[in-house]
Amino acid sequence: MTDFRNFIDGQWVATGNTFDNRDPVDNRLIGRVHEAGDAEVDAAVRAANAALRGPWAKLKTQQRVELLHAVADGITRRFDDFVDAEIADTGKPYDLASHLDIPRGAANFKIFADLVRNIPNETFDLETPDGGHALNYGVRVPRGVIGVICPWNLPLLLMTWKVGPALACGNTVVVKPSEDTPGTATLLGEVMNEVGVPPGVYNVIHGRGPGSAGEKLTRHPLVDGITFTGETRTGEAIMQAAAVGVRPVSFELGGKNAGIVFADADFDKAVAGIARAAFDNTGQVCLGTERVYVQRPIFERFVAAMGERARGFRLGRPRDPGVNLGPLISQRHRDKVLSYYTRAREDGATVVAGGGVPDMPDELAAGAWVQPTVWTGLPETSAVIQQEIFGPCCHIAPFDTEEEAVALANATPYGLAATVWTSNVGTAHRMGQALEVGICWINSWFLRDLRTAFGGAKQSGIGREGGVHSLEFYTELRNVCVKL
Ligand code: NAD
Repeated sequence: MTDFRNFIDGQWVATGNTFDNRDPVDNRLIGRVHEAGDAEVDAAVRAANAALRGPWAKLKTQQRVELLHAVADGITRRFDDFVDAEIADTGKPYDLASHLDIPRGAANFKIFADLVRNIPNETFDLETPDGGHALNYGVRVPRGVIGVICPWNLPLLLMTWKVGPALACGNTVVVKPSEDTPGTATLLGEVMNEVGVPPGVYNVIHGRGPGSAGEKLTRHPLVDGITFTGETRTGEAIMQAAAVGVRPVSFELGGKNAGIVFADADFDKAVAGIARAAFDNTGQVCLGTERVYVQRPIFERFVAAMGERARGFRLGRPRDPGVNLGPLISQRHRDKVLSYYTRAREDGATVVAGGGVPDMPDELAAGAWVQPTVWTGLPETSAVIQQEIFGPCCHIAPFDTEEEAVALANATPYGLAATVWTSNVGTAHRMGQALEVGICWINSWFLRDLRTAFGGAKQSGIGREGGVHSLEFYTELRNVCVKL
């Protein structure tokens, strides 16, 4: 059994207060998580604050870049440990963890380290009333101590997506991983020590949100900015905490993303793409698709093909051959997803596939399993269509015209992502510009270029991260004006 301790100022800190960490595959107890209290949160933030002026601050950009490359290499060197930790916490298939979560986790350090080496600064020459000149130039300085609050669905990937640019820009961080996935954030502390990142630069505190480590971190006055990925309602609570002291926030929040398939799309590719968007990572991807709109001429055929996909998954242990779908993250989350399965039936859905709990072998029966599910026939007003479920499910409805598809897709308070399938280049561009989202994929899904802006429109987020956009949050742009 693993003890997940806090990582503060380069040291491992246990507390008297622990909670269980369970494997969602079979509900087996796999570890004890040491919850950080007031003292540990305060110690972590103070360590991060002190490190801002210590050896970390004295490193030249090139030295910091090399250190972050060493962190990435450290993750790769311990690839199997990271995969094991991610799998134990989430139950996701080995193939997914080893092809997506861990390599992308390492890449996030390299990409942002390389980025800060090449940032241009703006300059303006000002003609002054006395006939002389003044030269203005911008300098980017670190924002300070960044509070990093993370969800459980892609734990290492989403955490390093924030920690990578934060450290590359010269900040220090206090990370609060999800209470359900303490593993990889803790392991990263070992790598930080192994490669010589100075103590206090990367800190991890464990615990839950309200009344616990998450909230305490957001309320700490020495935290200079908060970057958060998680539910929109949690974002509201964090924003209120950040208002005290006028601290900036960067938010990547929930979604209820639409998939739109036109009759002229490559049918097989569209089915494969929408199936990935609905079911990958057991539907626990913020960018996933729970609302699918299909043009009427191909509607019936598309529904049948999606039903077949949903029934074709092999559920089981992450390393068992052929397994391509894991459980949900926890029993608590399963209760939530199953409540929507019930609601769909109550609201009159036709259940095309799934709709309940799969029959699992005895040793897995206590796991957080649900069936991949496809519905049709729900009114757009149903909670199943309006609210984020975050499970392996989607509702498919027909549409006739492009205008109708746009109106349906935009009729939600969320605006994270969309995926559109068509062979008409005009339709593709018009849709890309009409959909109220932060990212619109055409004939693809989850094709991420880390240099591009990433974030949500409407209630799906505040701000953009990715490439140079990450600098907007992780640095202050100072203007220096020199009278010549
Ligand atoms: P969550 O909001 O429940 O929790 C996220 C983190 O916030 C956890 O670490 C939690 O402990 C902490 N937290 C909760 N309440 C808090 C509070 N009051 N103060 C401070 N911290 C608090 O989200 P989750 O269930 O872990 O993740 C799923 C959600 O994340 C979904 O809504 C999904 O769409 C969203 N998500 C969004 C993106 C994106 O890029 N937009 C990416 C992944 C997940």
